[in-house]
Amino acid sequence: MVKEVRTRFAPSPTGDLHVGNIRTALFDWAYARHTGGKLIFRIEDTDRERVTDEYINRAVETMKWLGLNWDEGPEIGGPCGPYLQSQRLDIYKHWAQKFLDDGFAYKCYCSTEELEARREKQRELNQAPGYDGKCRNLSADEEAKYVAEGRAPVIRMQMPAGETRFTDLIRGEVVFDHTFVPDFVLMRADGSPLYTLAVAVDDVLMKITHVLRGEDLLSSTPRQIRVYQAMGVAPEDYPHFAHLPFVMGQDNAKLSKRNGEVSIAWYREEGFLPEAICNYLALLGWSPGDDRENITMEELVSLFNVERVNSSPARFDMKKLEAINGDKIRALTIDDFLKRALPFLTSAKIITGTDEEIALVRKALPIIQERIVKLKEVVPMLGFFFVETVKVEEESVAKMAEEQALHVLSASLSALEPLSQWDHESIESALRAALIEKMGLKPRNAFGPVRIAVTGSHISPPLFESMELLGKERSIARIKALVR
Ligand code: GLU
Repeated sequence: MVKEVRTRFAPSPTGDLHVGNIRTALFDWAYARHTGGKLIFRIEDTDRERVTDEYINRAVETMKWLGLNWDEGPEIGGPCGPYLQSQRLDIYKHWAQKFLDDGFAYKCYCSTEELEARREKQRELNQAPGYDGKCRNLSADEEAKYVAEGRAPVIRMQMPAGETRFTDLIRGEVVFDHTFVPDFVLMRADGSPLYTLAVAVDDVLMKITHVLRGEDLLSSTPRQIRVYQAMGVAPEDYPHFAHLPFVMGQDNAKLSKRNGEVSIAWYREEGFLPEAICNYLALLGWSPGDDRENITMEELVSLFNVERVNSSPARFDMKKLEAINGDKIRALTIDDFLKRALPFLTSAKIITGTDEEIALVRKALPIIQERIVKLKEVVPMLGFFFVETVKVEEESVAKMAEEQALHVLSASLSALEPLSQWDHESIESALRAALIEKMGLKPRNAFGPVRIAVTGSHISPPLFESMELLGKERSIARIKALVR
């Protein structure tokens, strides 16, 4: 019988989810959906000092915003819950104790200072670093002595000599020589579990079949496999591993706060659409076999396979993401565009959200849909519609200081005031006749001053449409204000 695929996304949110997390979540999601399997969303929050409720809530909210739905996890629960590791501490204690009882693990009484001193020695002698096995075979007397000294032990897993081999779905055969995988701590002296214990126990208990995660976790795999062995899992039941290559910044170093924007919250605030982020990240290091740049979530689900993930690192290219975002904005229906643009306008206090304001925004959106790359741009683009008088931008002031500009504005007023019909065609032909035909100006010199007077900036949505929407009275008042 073919086992149902169960993937998991298991972040430890110590801040907002970042680009790397999202790429992992997206691939886990796509693989689960492609195979008709399940995505398990597990929060690895054993370090409650760094993983706070707020970050957990934000991670959940980000997944929802991206449209990456899960089948078991926060808010919905499931048969293998709880899905917050902080609520599973007894389970980890149980297994750590069992590993002790079964002889896979031992109590280690070495103090941090002793460990550090021995590590220093190893460095001097050029030996492989890591725990030297000192407490592996303590006699009852030695243990009693340590206890009498008041030492509290950690529980340490014993790594047998030899090697761990597994086939990574992206990287192929991987071998770890145990000389470089020393005995490792499962549980601290205070009874709190370490990542390696919790992650491996949960992957088994949650019946995970495929672990797709970042390459930075590759080296912890032999330790996790050791935990599966100690739990009595048969090798054919170990999850399959697929370690996704790093996402690099423009400078070819791993993408981080230092060389790029990594927090998903930032992308959201800038006005990147979730479908653009998913589109871009999906094709970053994976391809369906062609060189397309656009992919929908449906296509991703139907085409995704782990085999086509590139094993070399992928470079994050903000320009490409912006281009995709612009495409996705242009593909929105006006209603959808409106729904997504409104929060930017209200939070920038451009509008309060009255019906009248929303109706005007709805009319103005089509004239800027071709021109913006990020939703946030609706704020500078549409702001001038919602102010009583415009304040001319610093950069545009100089352009207005030229004498010719005042002539242009006076001529515009004379051309516009008699208009009985106030639509963009009439406005355009009146201004063309007065400024281009009669005064012989180039379009830039002709319409530039009018644009600045009406919108406050030399960069704006199309001028004649903007004036139509703003209305005759307000347009003329703004031009007058500068003529005086
Ligand atoms: N919680 C780990 C992290 O955020 C990932 C665990 C895993 O995918 O194995 O780095």
